[in-house]
Amino acid sequence: MQDFLRLTLDEAAPQPVSGECAHFRWRWLAVGVLTFEPLMPVDRALVLSAGLHGNETAPVELLDKLLQRLMQGEIRLQWRVLVILGNPAALRADRRFVDYDINRLFSGRWRDVPSCSETARAAALEKRVSDFFAAGEERIRWHLDMHTAIRGSYYPRFGVLPARARPYDEGFLHWLGCAGLEALVFHQTPGGTFTHFTSATFAALSCTLELGKARPFGSNDLSQFNQAAQALAALLGGEALPVANAPRRYRVAGQLIRHSEAFILHMADSTLNFTPFPRGTLLAEEGETRYEVQHDIERVLFPNPHVAPGLRAGLMLVEIT
Ligand SMILES: [Zn+2]
Repeated sequence: MQDFLRLTLDEAAPQPVSGECAHFRWRWLAVGVLTFEPLMPVDRALVLSAGLHGNETAPVELLDKLLQRLMQGEIRLQWRVLVILGNPAALRADRRFVDYDINRLFSGRWRDVPSCSETARAAALEKRVSDFFAAGEERIRWHLDMHTAIRGSYYPRFGVLPARARPYDEGFLHWLGCAGLEALVFHQTPGGTFTHFTSATFAALSCTLELGKARPFGSNDLSQFNQAAQALAALLGGEALPVANAPRRYRVAGQLIRHSEAFILHMADSTLNFTPFPRGTLLAEEGETRYEVQHDIERVLFPNPHVAPGLRAGLMLVEIT
């Protein structure tokens, strides 16, 4: 198959749309959606996505290189795989999104906002993932959704995991350490992310991977992403993994919601992700309401004083010991 990234940016289909290599069949399903099926039966299925945010190009390039290695027969595939480039229109425009942040629209939330490019894409991706998992009987289901962050971070590489009724499999968390993640953040409530959708709907082990800083196509220092790329290749081929980090673990202890124009976030624009604040610190206020740190130490994730009213201006984290 020709260059999948190029085809996706051109909104074109490969010719032919399917084929067979030494170890697997591949099939192009739609713009930015491709599936791989090993010729020998396997007991694991993986959704591998990137480019939900169109300006986060490094994971898209990483994924593209991985696909080239697969197609050249360098990796002996041990998983059934669904590859997704999440938001082709935003990738073309080199923007986070065209009309709406698609990673707030999953689990049917696309029905709650006026229809646009992203609502259609979220609905289509939900259907693709549903068909993919329905087509197999694998015991093990994973979803890795790769991003890069806008702001700097105390931990440049970290994972955000959706709320889940059952504990996470330690093998899965170990792999995230092998991929170079330095911190893991566990959500406690449902959200509109792609990973929450796959976790809640298909009981997949799902993680949103933040792999570094967002830059345009061609300007990425891909060496920064080497460990994640190696861990992915090893995962797909069932080979030895890179040495694991032992990521710090945090749970989401609270959210700062901007309800109105009166909301003031007491953090500079340059505040790093995971910046710690001691008990009693005034984080934000809105009229009579004051948001103060309730635990000995809380760290902020994704602080954003400029969000529209009704949206989240930051998550507060507490370390799990
Ligand atoms: Zn992102």
